[in-house]
Order: sequence, then C-alpha cells, then structure tokens
Amino acid sequence: MATTDTLRMVIGVPRENRAGETRVALSPTALPQLTKAGFEIIVESGAGDAAGYPDAAFTDRGARIGTRDDAFGADVLVQVNVMDGDASCSDLGKLRQGQVVVGSVAPFARPELVNAVGATGATLFALELVPRTTRAQSMDILSSQAAVAGYKAVIIAADKLPRMFPLLTTAAGTIAPAKVFVIGAGVAGLAAIANSRRLGALVEAYDVRPAAREEVESLGARFVELPLETGQEEGSGGYAKQLSEDTIRKQQELMAKTVAGSDVVITTAQVQGSTAPVIVTTEMVKQMAPGSVIVDLAAEQGGNCEPTVAGETIDVDGVQVIGVVNLPGTIPVHSSQLFGKNVANFVTLMVVDGAVDVGVDDDVIKESVVAKGGDVVNNRVREALGMEKLPEPEPPAPDPEPESEETPAAEEAAK
Ligand code: NAD
Repeated sequence: MATTDTLRMVIGVPRENRAGETRVALSPTALPQLTKAGFEIIVESGAGDAAGYPDAAFTDRGARIGTRDDAFGADVLVQVNVMDGDASCSDLGKLRQGQVVVGSVAPFARPELVNAVGATGATLFALELVPRTTRAQSMDILSSQAAVAGYKAVIIAADKLPRMFPLLTTAAGTIAPAKVFVIGAGVAGLAAIANSRRLGALVEAYDVRPAAREEVESLGARFVELPLETGQEEGSGGYAKQLSEDTIRKQQELMAKTVAGSDVVITTAQVQGSTAPVIVTTEMVKQMAPGSVIVDLAAEQGGNCEPTVAGETIDVDGVQVIGVVNLPGTIPVHSSQLFGKNVANFVTLMVVDGAVDVGVDDDVIKESVVAKGGDVVNNRVREALGMEKLPEPEPPAPDPEPESEETPAAEEAAK
C-alpha cells in the first residue's frame, strides 16, 4: 500500500556540469524499463552528448527532450554527481519540497552537500549507500563503476609501461611477461586482475580479507600470503574494516619485496567512508625498477601510495605514480549504461500503485536516504556535521507465530 510520500512518475535527467564529467545518469538503454513501469522521462537537451548519446537516442526510446528547467521540474531528478558535488551549486535553487534526488553524493566526504540539499526540503538518496547485498547488486553504482575503473587502470598501466605485458617468443629471443601486483581484491581489484591476465601478465594480488583468495586464484593470479593478523574474517556490509596503524606498518614491511619486484602495481584498497590506507610508501616506490608504473585507484580518497596526487603523475626516481580520477568518465558509453541501469532499478523499487513512494518499506531505499523532510536523516552524516544523532529505528517486530500451518480445508481433510 502506498504511503503519504507519493509523487508523480516523472523523471528528469539534467546535463552533468561537473568539470571533466562525461557520463549521463540514464542512458537510452535504461529507458524501456522505466517507460514500461509508467515513468515519463524528460532529458535536458545535450545531456547525453559527452557520453555518446545524442538527443535522438533518448527520444527513440520514449523520452522527451527539454530545457534544464524542464528536467528540474520533474518529481524525480537523477544525476551522476548530485548538484555537481558542490554544496553551493546554483541548481540548489531549482529544488523544491518533496522532490526526489537520486545519484552519487559521497555523503561522508561531502556532508555539507547533504545538508544543502536537505535544506531545500527535497528527499536525497545517495546511491553509494546501497547495501552490498545480493539483492541490491543491480543498484550498486560503486560496483558497476569500479569494474570499469579496474579495467581501465590496466590499459593505462600497459600504455605507460616501457615493456610488453605478454610473454612473447620470437626469432629474436623471448620476452618475459610483465609482473603486475594488485593491492585490494574487491570489485576494481578483481577487474584489474582479470584484465591484466587477458593481456598476458603474470599477476599477483593481496587483500586483507582471506575470503578474497579464492576469487583471486579463480582468475589465474597468485594470492600473496602475508603473515599478518588482519581480523577481517567478517567485513561490515561487504566492506573491509580499518586496520590499526601498527598492522598497516607491518603490511608495508611484508609487502615491500613484492612491490619492488613488480613492473606494475595497481592499488585499490579502501575502507568505506574512510581515507584510503597508505600501503605503498615512497621508500617502497624507490625500490622499484625505473620505468615501473603504479596506478593508484584510491587517489581521490587520499591514495594508497604515499607520493600519489589525485589527477597527476608523479615521477619517483623513474617510477611513474599515476593518481587516476574518474576513470569511468573515460569510458562514458558503458559506464553510463551501467550507471543508468543501476538508477533505473533503484527508482523502480519505489513504484507503488502507479506512483513514486519514498516511504516504501524496502531496506535498499531506507539505507540510501540521507535527507528527508528538511532534515539530514543519516546519523553518520549528522555526526560529520556536528548534529545530534537521531534515535535509531526500532528493529522490526518478529512475525507472529502462525496459529496453524494448515488451511481449514487441509484440517478437514486430515480428520
Ligand atoms: P571494494 O570495497 O570492492 O574493494 C576494496 C578492497 O580493498 C576490499 O576487498 C578490501 O578488503 C581491500 N582492502 C582494504 N584495506 C586493505 C589493505 N590495507 N590492504 C589490502 N587490501 C585492503 O572497493 P572497489 O569498489 O573495488 O573500489 C576500490 C577503490 O577504487 C576505491 O578507493 C574506489 O574509490 C576507487 N575507485 C576509483 C575510481 C577512479 O576512477 N579512480 C573508480 C571507481 C572506484
């Protein structure tokens, strides 16, 4: 049954204005699912241009093209970067009470953005908070975009490395395969392992979660065994827990030799909501052979590598340390296609009786909402803003015991 939080089924797709962003929040391929569910879609003219989707590609799939104000007039706004990631974005003035905004927010890194959207009375959903569960996988933008990033990190490394990736036997002699070391075997790490293997490299990988070993080995890579007590048998919501400074220091010491012997290091280690752990120190980089390459996928979270600078390439004694940012934006056709499908699946969850219901009783929706009714409703974001915590919701009451498993007819038959 619908709650009182219902809205018209109109989705607006504004053009992304954040510097360097090429993606669009819905690609044409995601539209049929939404129109079938009863949505009307208004796309700002040119919103898909940078991603390779002209206006006609959207109209062909049932969307209407309009101005930016037309897109912002919709009841449900979808954006790759909500308000361009800027708490003083001029678009904030276009939002209205009760309107729904869905997209990536980085709520713990940018709590002031959550506060600014919340102050307009709009309901804000941060797709980064979609739980890492099997059911929610089809809505998980972090996973879909990390898979693209892991793939691209390998292409960048192969391009910069003054060596080949595969083993090559020729009349002029044999070329040994490149050695790639992937640190962090989550979504991006596994994609990086798979692509390095495709290109013929010898791949090693490490993750603090022992459970990652099987996945690493299933991709044909060697899992690097470190005698390190990480206490990560059980992660929280599919994510690793933070290690102590002491454990990280030990990890650095134990890993130094593997890093030194690698031609390419791809770092993807992260702990959700924290700055990235620094795993590769400048001293470790200096032990690598000149010409080696490090691609640091965690650059925007501070970097897994000490010399990393987001968006730049730093030369450390001939080793290039590349602090990549927004790699999905370098492959916008497919990253928009995946992002759009995540968004479409998420929004469709809120459809109740032909209307959008933000109060729907669904864990994925409840865990992703960060602002509602003029207030910030996520306690971790409130804490970051210095606001008092809200009382945690009561856990749901257990279902009452059924009086009898049998229907009256079955009872009758059993007599
Ligand atoms: P994930 O949570 O799936 O994987 C991270 C992995 O790191 C986990 O398996 C975790 O166990 C591991 N880890 C944590 N601490 C570690 C440590 N000390 N040593 C070794 N492993 C450790 O995350 P993901 O979705 O794969 O993303 C990985 C990183 O890539 C994140 O920092 C993310 O922000 C970044 N990313 C960057 C881009 C880009 O364009 N630059 C795009 C997408 C993701």
